[in-house]
Amino acid sequence: MLSDPDVVIIGAGAAGLAAGRVLMAAGAFTVVLEAKIRTGGRAFTDENSVGIAWDRGAHWLHNQRHNFFAGYAEREKIPLEPVSENRKIWTDRGWSDDELIQDYDAYCDLAFDRIAALGLEPVDHPVSDALPRHHFYRPMFESWYAALSGMEPNRSSAWDDWRYRDDTGNRRVRCGYGALLARYATDVPVEVSTPARIIDSSGPEIFVETDRGRIKASAVIITVSNAVLSSDAISFSPPLPNAFTSALECIPLGEAEKVAIAFKSDVFGLEDTHLIFLDPSPQVARFQIRPFGENIAVAYLAGCFARRMSEAGAAAMSDFALSRLVDVFGSGIRSAVTATQASDWCIDPDIGGGYSSARPGGADGRTVLAEPVNERLFFAGEAHAVDAYGTVHGAYNSGVETARRVLAHLRS
Ligand SMILES: Cc1cc2nc3c(=O)[nH]c(=O)nc-3n(C[C@H](O)[C@H](O)[C@H](O)COP(=O)(O)OP(=O)(O)OC[C@H]3O[C@@H](n4cnc5c(N)ncnc54)[C@H](O)[C@@H]3O)c2cc1C
Repeated sequence: MLSDPDVVIIGAGAAGLAAGRVLMAAGAFTVVLEAKIRTGGRAFTDENSVGIAWDRGAHWLHNQRHNFFAGYAEREKIPLEPVSENRKIWTDRGWSDDELIQDYDAYCDLAFDRIAALGLEPVDHPVSDALPRHHFYRPMFESWYAALSGMEPNRSSAWDDWRYRDDTGNRRVRCGYGALLARYATDVPVEVSTPARIIDSSGPEIFVETDRGRIKASAVIITVSNAVLSSDAISFSPPLPNAFTSALECIPLGEAEKVAIAFKSDVFGLEDTHLIFLDPSPQVARFQIRPFGENIAVAYLAGCFARRMSEAGAAAMSDFALSRLVDVFGSGIRSAVTATQASDWCIDPDIGGGYSSARPGGADGRTVLAEPVNERLFFAGEAHAVDAYGTVHGAYNSGVETARRVLAHLRS
């Protein structure tokens, strides 16, 4: 049986952990309920499955100068490292020359300029409306955009894109972003393996039903993903208002998955290189080859293709990723594989996808979702961070902001 706190937080990802720390620092008795056996949510460093640590979810510290976790890593004496600039493009005739890379970069610059201009239009449009035509570069850009936003450009809102801010670049940590978050979670009172099933705010107190009993609180912060909120995994009494559920439909979770393939030696002859394919097919992966010099390749799948592969299962994902590497490096690399593993975010009932992306016409839904319901149910998470959605630091910012609102509510 759990004791009754002032505040119950549901979900121990970046948002829930940040909210928990703010409330604890202010002296509010707080309990964080987490469905999984671990903390971190979509920031999880897998240290076991392939013998080399890799981030199944978040790996880059975006917008590093405005990212709490960049400062936290420095205070914890964990060195931040630059993201590798090495990049190679594979074509059906072998490695591309520099001219092709420059042409593709010019296409991307033009596309991003046009997307920004579209975001200033008085009516919201799909991002795809801004893209210049090109037989190869447009599909390549579309797959890159899906990896950035979790959804292909035709499913993404230009207004949402315009509101996102990242002016200071990316960093990474060798131990893994998930491991960094696991360290941050120390001292936060998290009850793992304790999913919230029912939230009853029909009376003067709020009750949260779990498999370990019922908890009473004055306020609840819900940080589960929008896919979980839309799935009815948690029952709300009274039901969530229509304005809130409509906003949820406007801000679905996109799709992102990864596959890790470990090798017994360096079969690539490349150092920490981003590998992309000149390929008009939407069924593409991008790879980070030998990140931090380790003998591992990590494939990144995004958009509808990522969900289809996730549903096909880990073996199908690994086969696909390895076959793409064989196309480039030859079938000899197969015998050097020591282990493979794939993420399963899209089919994970506690998550349900990659990161949130507004549908065209739906960007304003984020502000609706950030408002409390009946002044006592508060919501936080990456989907609520208007200028940093889809990121760990955005989830953190949202958790901190929401915890401050809850403190004001408790004192009122
Ligand atoms: C493949 C991939 C790559 C990514 N790459 C990056 C990156 O490089 N950089 C970056 O900044 N971001 C990246 N992201 C996004 C980032 O991981 C998320 O935006 C962020 O971690 C979300 O944090 P959150 O707290 O909002 O939600 P979550 O991390 O989803 O936390 C919510 C928690 O709620 C729990 N939960 C669900 N249901 C219940 C319930 N009923 N009761 C109790 N608990 C429940 C879940 O288990 C979860 O732990 C990536 C994500 C993916 C999937």
